[in-house]
Amino acid sequence: MSGISAATPPERLAGLLAPFGVSGRLERLGGTGETYRIVTDAREDYVLKVFDDSTPPGLLDAQDSLAAGVDAFAHPVQAPRCLRTADGAVEVAVSAADGRGHDGRNRRVRVYTFVPGTPWREAGPAGPSRLRKLGWLIGRLGQLARRSSAIPDVARRTHDWDLTAAAQHRRRVPFVPEARRRAILDRAFMAHAAVLPQLASMPHGFIHGDVNDENVLVEGHDIVGLIDFGDALANPIVCDLAIGLAYAMLGASDPLQTGAEVVAGYAGERPLSVDEARVLLPLVRGRLAVTVAMAAERRTIAPDHPTWFVTEPAAWRLLERLDEVEPARAGTRLAAPAGVDPFPERRWTTADLRARRDAHVSRALSVSYVEPLCIVRGNAQYLIGHEGRPYLDLVNNVCHVGHGHPRVVEAGQRQMAVLNTNTRYLSALLPAYAERLAATLPDGLDVCFFVNSGSEANELALRLAAAHTGRQDVIVGDAAYHGNTPRLIALSAYKFLGPGGSGRPEPWVHLAPTPDAYRGPRRGWSRDTGVGYGDDVGAVARACANAGTPVGAFLTESLPSCGGQIVPPPGYLETAFRHVRAAGGVCIVDEVQTGFGRVGPSFWGFALQDVVPDIVVLGKPIGNGHPIGAVVTTRAIAASFENGMEFFSSFGGNPVSCAMGLAVLDVVRDEALPERARDVGTRLLDGLRALMDAHPLVGDVRGEGLFIGVELVRDRSTLEPAGDEAGRLVNRLRARGLLLSTDGPHHNVIKIKPPMVLTPDDADLVVRVMEEELTAS
Ligand code: PMP
Repeated sequence: MSGISAATPPERLAGLLAPFGVSGRLERLGGTGETYRIVTDAREDYVLKVFDDSTPPGLLDAQDSLAAGVDAFAHPVQAPRCLRTADGAVEVAVSAADGRGHDGRNRRVRVYTFVPGTPWREAGPAGPSRLRKLGWLIGRLGQLARRSSAIPDVARRTHDWDLTAAAQHRRRVPFVPEARRRAILDRAFMAHAAVLPQLASMPHGFIHGDVNDENVLVEGHDIVGLIDFGDALANPIVCDLAIGLAYAMLGASDPLQTGAEVVAGYAGERPLSVDEARVLLPLVRGRLAVTVAMAAERRTIAPDHPTWFVTEPAAWRLLERLDEVEPARAGTRLAAPAGVDPFPERRWTTADLRARRDAHVSRALSVSYVEPLCIVRGNAQYLIGHEGRPYLDLVNNVCHVGHGHPRVVEAGQRQMAVLNTNTRYLSALLPAYAERLAATLPDGLDVCFFVNSGSEANELALRLAAAHTGRQDVIVGDAAYHGNTPRLIALSAYKFLGPGGSGRPEPWVHLAPTPDAYRGPRRGWSRDTGVGYGDDVGAVARACANAGTPVGAFLTESLPSCGGQIVPPPGYLETAFRHVRAAGGVCIVDEVQTGFGRVGPSFWGFALQDVVPDIVVLGKPIGNGHPIGAVVTTRAIAASFENGMEFFSSFGGNPVSCAMGLAVLDVVRDEALPERARDVGTRLLDGLRALMDAHPLVGDVRGEGLFIGVELVRDRSTLEPAGDEAGRLVNRLRARGLLLSTDGPHHNVIKIKPPMVLTPDDADLVVRVMEEELTAS
């Protein structure tokens, strides 16, 4: 679709036909471009198209040669062929006298053969034969795209209708007035976004890009033409099929059967891979979603526009029908004629999986949500259930750079195939990784240890502290969680004060209040509050000293997570560290939940408080799901530990872990994820805070970057925790495709800590859906 903004008088253009050896009467054709049918006295008519500077000639040449390829390769289907002048030129400039300069743009014309036929849309309902022929044609296009080895550079572009860029239209969802339809549209966009990362590895080619019901021309049961190559671009080849399907299924009494006929025709010409089959329906829904989202916004601009809304009613009906079907079932039906089964897991039932799990897996392990999820795939910020539904993962901070990030996967696969041993051999990867990790931390934190989990890392950190101080007593927060070993459970009030716990601390464990400025003993966001909580730690340290059990370590998260997504007020760590160090203890910061840029460009949670710990504990995000834990400390503390006893972890620091850890650091840097966490996090925080006005249930919204807590209360003055309400809301949001969890001592804080690739659109969606569910509850 060339950017024509002012029409040139046809009588002037007619004068430009001579060089092409054509003469006739010009009739303006519909569509977005300035296009004329040249009605001649001979058998063949022609088409004249006017282009301006906004369409580069190189792109037109590429599109024309694609059309010529289709014309030759998809016989008897015709495509427009570009005529040349006697001099061999493909275009003629429109002179100033002929109308150039209406809008300051230069114009040129090209002349094409006219392709006769009735647009698919006007040809009445299609039977199986025509549907299969459509599939055949698109399969043929796919083959052609695959055969032409080089994709022209000009084709690497995007535009409004680029199916891989459908997410650009998500911001238009709020233009849809009905909540029910907005929810349908949200689900369609999400289904599309969730498969997008998979498209990157699928066969690409220079595709038509707009096989719609105006551009496919029919005659009886036959397809005779394909026109308008103006949207052609380099894209996954399966996109042409998805677009063709979206239009073929419009208005069908059994859309999936109709679609399956098209797929049958396609598969006869070009095999559909399982991966392509799996993304087909999400792409179809994505295309329909773009149509209705654009129409919704355009209605606010020109509600009576003659062409903008032609597809909208049928597109809505189809979207609504597809929304009612389980995605895996629908996708299976659609793909069946291609002989592939893209959703074998759909036959599982959650009841059966649960029963099998309970038979051989301890029930001490919990399962989330009233209706448990069976997740079979993960792409970036999305998880996909066995029923084919996508879920936006807002809580898994382990898959920090996104589920299945290709660079991390590739790094692990490559190294796994080369070598995996242990740290008793020299390797280039171990020091390389340690250097890179140390470089992210303040000077002085120079010595790294590698283990396999956050628990192991905390255990080791406590051993280091004890070796350095000769003391065993530890101060921890009164709602903290630090790991699953006996010693760490004893240090985790979150556990020992909860169900099944001892109910009281061990004699060597000393609790200090969580620095919660909202409901803790000291309230209000101020330095006084922070210093006060820091002094509380000092008081505990003094009490330890007075009791003859001086403190060896203060173990704290920089932002307590299980404690309720707490952001400590300024001055807290600085004050606490001063007291602890004065008492002869060391300061251990557990960054398992918060590290690697989650809180923004400061990269580490403790940096928000302007302190440097003595020992830093790393886990979860460090390997993007690959089990790595690490401890980084000072040379002095490390030296205290070097007492002759070997430290060895069979898997810790192995070459595969190092390769994957390095890849995570590379991705965090190259994709500017800390900056993204700051920007998207701020957007999310602002949006969530705005909900507080209309929803008294939302007592507090707090966070840094993509570490956010939403605390629900029944009464804003008593702060009575709304734990049941939070649980119900999380389950309602799960039904809307948003995965969240609750935490905090009263389980009334909704935790938000998504993969860092969350987009601004995702943030807007979370706020909008949260608002809708708060209103409905
Ligand atoms: N520290 C903190 C703050 C944690 O949240 C966790 C796990 N939730 C751990 C340590 C323990 O890590 P892992 O489960 O890898 O042993």
